[in-house]
Amino acid sequence: MTPWVFQFCTPQAEGNASLGDLLGNKGACLAEMSRLGMDVPPGFTLTTEVCRQYFAAGGLPASVETAFRDALAVLEERTGHQFADVNNPLVVAVRSGSPVSMPGMMDTVLNLGLTPDAVPSLASRYDNNLAFAWSTYGRFVQQFADVVLGVDPYLFEDVKERFTDDIDAPLSLEQWPDAIEAFKQEMLAEMGETFPEDPFEQLIRAIQAVFDSWNSDRAQAYRKIHRIEESLGTAVTVQQMAFGNVDHSSGAGVVFTRDPNSGQRGMYGEYLVQAQGEDIVGGVLTPQLIDDEKGGGLRDVWPRIHDDLAATVETLERAFGDMQEVEFTVEQGELKLLQTRRAKRSAMASVEIAVDLAEAGRITRDQALRVVSVHEIEQLLHPRLDPKAERKVATRGLPSSPGAVSGEIAFTATEAIDRAQAGARVLLVRPETSPDDIRGMAAAVGILTSTGGMTSHAAVVARGMGVPCVSGARAVTIDMSKRTLTIGDQVLQSGDTLTIDGSTGDVMLGRVRTIAPALPESFDRLMGWADNARRIQIYANAETVAEAQTAIRFGASGIGLCRTEHMFFAHDRLPLMREMILARSDSERRRALAALQPLQEGDFEALIEVMDGRVLTIRLLDPPLHEFLPATDAEIEALAHASELDADYIRERVIELTEVNPMMGLRGCRLGLLYPEVYDMQMAAILSAMVNCTNRGIVVNVQIMAPLISTVKELAALKGRLDAICAETAPTLRRTPKFGTMIETPRACLIAEEMAGVADFFSFGTNDLTQMTMAISRDDAARFLPAYADSGILPENPFKTLDIKGVGKLMRMAVIEGRRQNPTLPVGICGEQAADPTSVDAVQRWGLTSASCSAYRVPLARLAAAQTALADRERLLSLDADEPIMGVYR
Ligand code: PEP
Ligand code: MG
Repeated sequence: MTPWVFQFCTPQAEGNASLGDLLGNKGACLAEMSRLGMDVPPGFTLTTEVCRQYFAAGGLPASVETAFRDALAVLEERTGHQFADVNNPLVVAVRSGSPVSMPGMMDTVLNLGLTPDAVPSLASRYDNNLAFAWSTYGRFVQQFADVVLGVDPYLFEDVKERFTDDIDAPLSLEQWPDAIEAFKQEMLAEMGETFPEDPFEQLIRAIQAVFDSWNSDRAQAYRKIHRIEESLGTAVTVQQMAFGNVDHSSGAGVVFTRDPNSGQRGMYGEYLVQAQGEDIVGGVLTPQLIDDEKGGGLRDVWPRIHDDLAATVETLERAFGDMQEVEFTVEQGELKLLQTRRAKRSAMASVEIAVDLAEAGRITRDQALRVVSVHEIEQLLHPRLDPKAERKVATRGLPSSPGAVSGEIAFTATEAIDRAQAGARVLLVRPETSPDDIRGMAAAVGILTSTGGMTSHAAVVARGMGVPCVSGARAVTIDMSKRTLTIGDQVLQSGDTLTIDGSTGDVMLGRVRTIAPALPESFDRLMGWADNARRIQIYANAETVAEAQTAIRFGASGIGLCRTEHMFFAHDRLPLMREMILARSDSERRRALAALQPLQEGDFEALIEVMDGRVLTIRLLDPPLHEFLPATDAEIEALAHASELDADYIRERVIELTEVNPMMGLRGCRLGLLYPEVYDMQMAAILSAMVNCTNRGIVVNVQIMAPLISTVKELAALKGRLDAICAETAPTLRRTPKFGTMIETPRACLIAEEMAGVADFFSFGTNDLTQMTMAISRDDAARFLPAYADSGILPENPFKTLDIKGVGKLMRMAVIEGRRQNPTLPVGICGEQAADPTSVDAVQRWGLTSASCSAYRVPLARLAAAQTALADRERLLSLDADEPIMGVYR
């Protein structure tokens, strides 16, 4: 049976660093530091299993108490002190430590083991320093009362006021004994609480209190936010106290092995003379920098300790293979180590450190790839709020496109454009954006919508443009007639400033300072390693030359989705598109299309040129036509004015084209089949662009795909047209475009085997596939998904992280069926989930060949794909010989 208790006493320890789950991080690291021969005060750790047993049994099992008393006896022998002995007291710290770092969330009780009678004996060990011994006991009484007995800390302050005029000054030797006694009396009078004087009882109650603190409100909230499992529990370490508060040759500090902001090597941290570690963490006293150019640094004050500490932290970083945060105490000139843990760091530092450690051969490149999180890369790529800047969060919406930005409110696209042209930084605020807003969106530095989800128009387009966006901020009320925006009792007007953080969804009043990302050289190096490790291609969703260039800069191997509809929103295209849709006859329609074709051709040519041989996957027009049409009377009048069309006629056509459920209406391939001249024009434009580029010596690698296919006949009919147009427009083209299909309806998945008989490749459109499979409108999901997440019904937003069980099952089926027909069928994913680590992990294991996401998210997908490929390899290597091999290795 696994023991309840693990002892450590330099240079030996029963545990080691690999036992974090059982000993908590602190217990495991203390054991490892002891093994490394460092001066760690000896002690023992009660395991997380004891914690689970404690909760299951409603108390400490008898066998634990026995083991714990045995451990205490060993500790007494090792230290030469006796617990609860008035003449030679052993004083201990009772410290929490969970397997996952939860800084400050759980409790600790220090200086335990003293009674008033034992104080002189403690003093005798330290040059008869009675003031230190009494203040140590006083600290214990206050902390025990607070943590274990639940006494309001202000009660001690009230009592202290009776003894001193200066509440901030420490009590004197003469004042301490009486103040402590008065405090105990006050506790009894105020709360009916008797202070337990037996150190054994105190120790048991302190241990129980630390276990109980696992379930404190703040610890639970922290676990919820960070998705830490409830069942982990905390370990408790009981360790001989090291006293940093003895005199001026003593102190305490916290040191990082590198600068946590930049990752630069060198000790970075703070210390305090004559203090305990809590004094630094508590922030009551102002500590001194370890390295201070102005003087007063550790090297100036205690040069030997400085050098010892430098050598020690270097050893720790080497031993643990990562930047460490180390807690230390100096007791009368002797350096003692109390804790080491993986240091929290900025995204920039994270990348710098991982690459530096790998280049120095301290960790492997694979390890470097695994210590940097996808979330950190995301933070690195976008401007972010200055962590030091003050902010007032007014409300929170959906974090739809990362990055933080401040801007002046504009309520319409036109207003945004006009004000941006006049030099303002504009935040476009809309109930929801529409294709008509695209120019306003491009002119804006950020976008805020009060409705719409993570895959709403605003969100998708903003992500594509790399513009920060918060969507679905439901507490924001927009009154377009008054041009006001209301959040609670704050009413804002056009031109007022708001700040949004598209990485968290926060909406803040006024301007909050941001800092720009500066990508370090180490970023490119890490990404290069990721590319060697991953198994799938990472493509970008991009429509414009600028997006394509960004995609390449961020390492995309090609474009996996070029949504051609976005090309029609530009100001020189939209009127032609509208004329085409509203045409009164075929000939009128053809005329509009003929005018559009050269523009499309130019777009495709420019993209092919930028891609320079990389794959460019062009999707034929997808959304319902009415999305391109004028929505308001003013827009209708404007269109009538600019074209030969009559306003009443436009109104009639708009009504005619309006659908009850446009997402399942006349869109995608249905449109292409019913109005064949639209797709014909697009296909001809693509082929002409290919011919032109080929003639210019550019390597062309184009594929075309059809959206919203759910029957093979749809696909076959479109392929027939492409072949015909190809023969007509580009008979000399040697490398004709591959023709594939989006798989974004459940039926397409079900008949994938047949589909693969016609399609050259599949691309899962998981936005629509999720919408259609779960019957959750992607644009209305924001209304109820947050409630579903809170209540645990659907913890993950399926438009952000693939619904692996349901939608994923259809996808797996489609891959298997499709490959039955064509074993080398390329299969990709181009929905918004394509850069999400959990989703990338899944699709890579299902044998997909590519994932395509917004250009700005390409590095995230590259790292996620590398991490999951490495994890897969590890899983494979750890399999027993007789275990079945699953997934792509099968
Ligand atoms: C999809 O449905 O996942 C997709 C990529 O297409 P769109 O978002 O343009 O509908
Ligand atoms: Mg789609």
